[in-house]
Amino acid sequence: MGSRAETPREFTIRHFQEIARANRFAENATIPHDTARCLVCHPEQEDMDPFMIYVDVIARCIPVRRPQVDAELVAAIREDLQWSGEPVDISLDDLRAQKPSALKAFRLWVRNALETGLELLSVHSPSSLTFSLDDAEGHGRRLSFVEGKIREIMDQIMAASGS
Ligand SMILES: [Zn+2]
Repeated sequence: MGSRAETPREFTIRHFQEIARANRFAENATIPHDTARCLVCHPEQEDMDPFMIYVDVIARCIPVRRPQVDAELVAAIREDLQWSGEPVDISLDDLRAQKPSALKAFRLWVRNALETGLELLSVHSPSSLTFSLDDAEGHGRRLSFVEGKIREIMDQIMAASGS
């Protein structure tokens, strides 16, 4: 085995997961790090669509911040429902029972969390890029990537909740 150097991707994900754990995503621009290895500062280091790199980084952070189905998550979902003018009619039991209306609301919350994450990464550093989920419109590969990530995040949070 032996140790090997962290790849830029591993470094970047670890850096942002630490930020998410500390609930400091909103101030991510102020946190010192090795910008040369950071894929948000320098996405050109990887042969991958920068939009997908950014979405992937955020997708790995959301379950760190909200690891399981609990009252806090439900409160966050209810807040999003309220903001979008939807009926706020989801309970912890609804989500645990995976009621379709609760899953729909959960999905909305995950999508909003990805969108907020993209906004926050756009001010990460002078060289970070500005994206929104709208940048996936009309791009089949980006759309299916985002859909896949939303599903992964939901599955991961649901699975961590046990039963
Ligand atoms: Zn950076």
